[in-house]
Amino acid sequence: TKYKEGMTKTRNSFSGKINDLIAKYRKVDEDFFEELEEVLITADVGVMTVMDLIDELKMEVKRRNIKDTKDVKDVISEKLVEIYYGDDDESIEELNFQQNELTVMLVVGVNGVGKTTSIGKLAHQLKSDGKKVVLAAGDTFRAGAIEQLEVWGERAGVDIIKQGAGSDPAAVIFDGIKAAKTRNADVLICDTAGRLQNKVNLMNELSKVKRVIEREVPNAPHEVLLVLDATTGQNAMSQAKTFLEATNVSGIVLTKLDGTAKGGIVLAIRNELHIPVKYVGLGEEITDLQKFNAQAFVFGLFA
Ligand code: GDP
Repeated sequence: TKYKEGMTKTRNSFSGKINDLIAKYRKVDEDFFEELEEVLITADVGVMTVMDLIDELKMEVKRRNIKDTKDVKDVISEKLVEIYYGDDDESIEELNFQQNELTVMLVVGVNGVGKTTSIGKLAHQLKSDGKKVVLAAGDTFRAGAIEQLEVWGERAGVDIIKQGAGSDPAAVIFDGIKAAKTRNADVLICDTAGRLQNKVNLMNELSKVKRVIEREVPNAPHEVLLVLDATTGQNAMSQAKTFLEATNVSGIVLTKLDGTAKGGIVLAIRNELHIPVKYVGLGEEITDLQKFNAQAFVFGLFA
């Protein structure tokens, strides 16, 4: 499947290294754990997450009286899934849809992370699920952003509401809401500008857009999706932290997981930021967006 294909780089690197370790050490000891720690950190699992994980592993290995490194593999998968969810609900994180009412989604993220592409893919997927989708071209800042979203809107076969470059994003979103309501749409997906260089502007713009949405649609936005690029590793983590200062975020879309061997970043994001990864991008095609599921993900690491 796409999931398996898209994870090839991470799987080859991760599972290869772990198999090497198992062969090298045979017996579970301190050196084994130390090298395992290194493998996990290299896969971008995140230092804090890895420390938690190694502690948990050591306890579990002791509890089950495991001596051979080959028997540790299953425990690693179990603990990876456990560490992903932490104390949170273990259900697959579905998007939050309104029944018989307009669902408004705000999509945020830095330029180049794959925001436009992800919006196109998501629109395609929701449309395939039978939903009527409208896009609002709220990134009026970046040159070409509106045209690019139009291309994706066409590919997905959904309507797009836009104004000229440089226009007020909040006004575009307002138009989007009006159009979505008039056209009886189920979902409005709002693009936004992704200027991290100017944090004050970013915050002001996002809060203005949110105020418009809150005023026009009860309990909206129903989702604020932050798009992060998996290939940027720990940089994606620091981007996430900046966005979290500017707005609340209900879910993450992690793109370009196919382009990195360091897919462990998924675990770090969830464990350290406590925000569910709702979707992962696994390629450049319109169908290359998958709902994230930790079990399937971890299974994919070792499959
Ligand atoms: P934006 O500036 O955030 O809107 O980014 P774009 O949507 O324009 O994407 C930037 C580049 O990343 C484009 O070349 C996309 O094809 C590519 N891209 C986006 N998502 C993925 C993904 O999941 N996998 C791969 N391999 N490329 C992607």
